[in-house]
Amino acid sequence: MLGLAGIPLGLRFVFLDPAPDACAGVAGELLHAGFSDDNAALELAGQVDVATFDFENVPETTARALQQVCPLYPAPNALGAGQDRALENELLTSLGIRVPPYHKVSSRTDLLEGLETLGYPAVLKTRRLGYDGKGQAILRDPEDRERAWQKLGDSDLVLEKFIPFDAECSLFAVRALDGETRFWPLTRNVHSNGILKLSLPGVFDEALQVKAEGQMRAMLEHFDYTGVLTMEFFLLEGELLVNEFAPRVHNSGHWTIDGSTCSQFENHLRAITGLPLGEADQTAHSLMFNWIGEMPDKRQIMAIPGVHWHDYGKAPRPGRKIGHATLTADSKEALEIHAVRLAQIAGGEFPALLARILGEIYR
Ligand code: AMP
Repeated sequence: MLGLAGIPLGLRFVFLDPAPDACAGVAGELLHAGFSDDNAALELAGQVDVATFDFENVPETTARALQQVCPLYPAPNALGAGQDRALENELLTSLGIRVPPYHKVSSRTDLLEGLETLGYPAVLKTRRLGYDGKGQAILRDPEDRERAWQKLGDSDLVLEKFIPFDAECSLFAVRALDGETRFWPLTRNVHSNGILKLSLPGVFDEALQVKAEGQMRAMLEHFDYTGVLTMEFFLLEGELLVNEFAPRVHNSGHWTIDGSTCSQFENHLRAITGLPLGEADQTAHSLMFNWIGEMPDKRQIMAIPGVHWHDYGKAPRPGRKIGHATLTADSKEALEIHAVRLAQIAGGEFPALLARILGEIYR
């Protein structure tokens, strides 16, 4: 999606990806290598004017090696800080940003101590390499303890208090090389089994937007950041708690391709290549549906007014994000009518998830 946004700007791309059939291949040259292959990273750096990443588990050491040869944005400090949940929480706390109460765990004794302090329910997570709910276990009562330890105990872990949030939301911002910063509207997110299913921007009040922007600004300035940064929040009784941040464009920002003057992808490229930033606004009522594991019927979905279809060309696999659709409309009413139709066609969990989110927001 970065490639697709950059081609009209006159940019050309070389992608490094461990998959020989990586979907980025349609938008540029593909260098097939692992993310921790320093030689491949140096080969990439030798071919380009500027480099970036949209996967946060590129090792910080590889990023630093690459940076010796060509500019890399965001800088490796932001990459490293987000790779370990415990360090991430420590950094956020040091910047005055609230996170769920947590306890570092590397033994059964630590786990017992953590549960005594935080209580049940709690979420045990691997410190590194977790995403989309992978590397996590929910502990609802003492009986879940051993099962969770068996599943995750050979990694370094954090135990987090389970937050009975009212909503999940995310904020994405773009910061240019000269420090100019723009923020998109807070986006409401609905997850199921730890995977993002729906994103709906522009449904929170101004006071919450201002609060989230203040936290984002602290992060951007701390890193002297260039490019798009994403923060994911739990909203609980009007307060924001940060679940995690991602030093990259984000799935919950895909609606910006069709619902904003300048998408997160284009603005990221503008930022890292020193071009003026575009508007990070919301130009339409928008809602994004993620296609996970399988794509719904394309003809039926595309017959709905205001649908934008995005097929990543990835092989279907259970739990894998292989595409999304954005719906745009010029009124809330039209968005709701078309969204209900879309959810019915997509089937599965979508009608119930959509009814929940629309019920909470619009009634
Ligand atoms: P993560 O991989 O940490 O982003 O978690 C994926 C999803 O799991 C989140 O978006 C939440 O829906 C849920 N989750 C993670 N941590 C917690 C928590 N401490 N309390 C409640 N739900 C959580």
